[in-house]
Amino acid sequence: MSVAALLTRSWRRVSGCWAPGAGIRRLSSIADPEIKVCVLGSGPAGFYTAQHLLKHHKSTVVDIYEKLPIPFGLVRFGVAPDHPEVKNVINVFTQTAHLSRCSFYGNVTVGKDVSIEELKQAYHVLVLSYGAETNRILGIPGENLPGVYSGRAFVGWYNGLPENRNLNPDLSSETAVIVGHGNVALDLARILLSPIDLLKKTDITANSLEAIENSKVKRVIIVGRRGPLQVAFTIKELREMIKLPGTRSLLDPNDFEGLRHVVKDLPRPRKRLMELLIKTALESNAGKEAEFQAAATKEWSLRFQRSPLEIIPSNDGERVGGIRLSVTKLKGSAESAVAIQTEDVEDLECGLVLSSIGYKSHPIDPSVPFDQQQGVIPNKLGRVLHAPGMYCSGWVKRGPAGVIATTMNDSFETAESVLEDVQSGILDVSALKGGYKVIEALLKQRGICPVSFSGWEKIDSSEVTKGEKVGKPREKLLTVKEMLEVANQ
Ligand code: FAD
Repeated sequence: MSVAALLTRSWRRVSGCWAPGAGIRRLSSIADPEIKVCVLGSGPAGFYTAQHLLKHHKSTVVDIYEKLPIPFGLVRFGVAPDHPEVKNVINVFTQTAHLSRCSFYGNVTVGKDVSIEELKQAYHVLVLSYGAETNRILGIPGENLPGVYSGRAFVGWYNGLPENRNLNPDLSSETAVIVGHGNVALDLARILLSPIDLLKKTDITANSLEAIENSKVKRVIIVGRRGPLQVAFTIKELREMIKLPGTRSLLDPNDFEGLRHVVKDLPRPRKRLMELLIKTALESNAGKEAEFQAAATKEWSLRFQRSPLEIIPSNDGERVGGIRLSVTKLKGSAESAVAIQTEDVEDLECGLVLSSIGYKSHPIDPSVPFDQQQGVIPNKLGRVLHAPGMYCSGWVKRGPAGVIATTMNDSFETAESVLEDVQSGILDVSALKGGYKVIEALLKQRGICPVSFSGWEKIDSSEVTKGEKVGKPREKLLTVKEMLEVANQ
């Protein structure tokens, strides 16, 4: 079959995999050739980059490859189950996936099932949007003791990430310490302390719901190296902690005395955050507030200027018994202040430690530049340095921080760079490229059966149906095997 014929054939499914069909899928001509774009990763970065390209250039054809059989990255596996409104972005991504010039190929791990070199041969443009798949470690003695978990694994466990489904965290002690002062730390604390009736109405997995229902944890101490002026969480998440039913906020007034005069000069979002912290710590409650606090059976607190030194084993040495912290002093001012350890230490007794000190990206292939120090793909406005035709977006482009809206903006910026390079001729799109048809043949040889977007929609509807029976928005499938079975039905 000629390349031109390959380019214009449509595709149908045969025994779960895609095969050439009879109809015309999309037309391409020599005068207006298709620009074949391959996006690696189907989180917000992948979908927003695809959306912008498809909207602003009618000749682009975008194939999104995803290692899991299901799309949406951290929107499904990161965003907390009690934040359903955040997950509404999935509706926008679904509209993009339904466009005739967009295809989704789940269950394909780039770097393992197909190489970057092979994708470069098949596409004009590669957009690397594969996020941050691991986490930073504390790097202290005792970190591997039972009862110490990365926040990433804990989040993956309650959100149904297949690799974390068997985490089974030990929730048998009353005190948990979370290391890190970001939004993920507050998500972890909220999920640990939330009334079970609130969680029951979310898409939290059944096994984690049961474990949390039987959890003994009633005190969560959230520890950070720096002070109140440097916390990385935002006001929405703080407010949720303060208003969490049955849980009292124990903020030490000493940490906030003297901060009122600093607050007035801060930029507005941080000013509002600080005002809420100060109000909670320093103003005495009356009326309903006081009743709320008095009735609480659980509590959470923030511990400032403490840096983890060591996980202390329990008496039998079998698991975590506490955490030793170094008291720090701050050097520099405001948000850029750095924490320096002092000789003073503090031990906190606890039976659960969650380290929430950040996610981390990793290199995908030796042919793709990677800055190990910064943990990002070196780029200029999304153009990968010294790698023509390669672009990046999302957390792998700018580091693992920022909300979905930030990721949207940087993905649009990357898409603009692609469009500018096509327009200016820097990017040569004159050669005919085989796109998915070339990759499909390779995947077939390797026994990989990709999951299409309609395959994901079968998984989606099966999860929703299972969830309806127990009053939840969905009951997530927890293994890749189950997902593939449902997608291929
Ligand atoms: P990701 O969402 O991680 O997507 C990357 C995708 O690439 C994944 O689907 C992954 O499976 C895939 N992939 C990885 N390697 C490969 C490979 N080799 N081949 C193919 N595919 C691959 N933001 C908010 O606005 N509100 C919130 O409430 C919120 N909560 C959060 C909670 C947590 C715990 C975390 C960690 C983040 C949260 N965020 C929230 C931030 C938001 O999730 C990120 O801004 C966003 O997901 C980053 O998008 P991304 O596409 O770069 O990465």
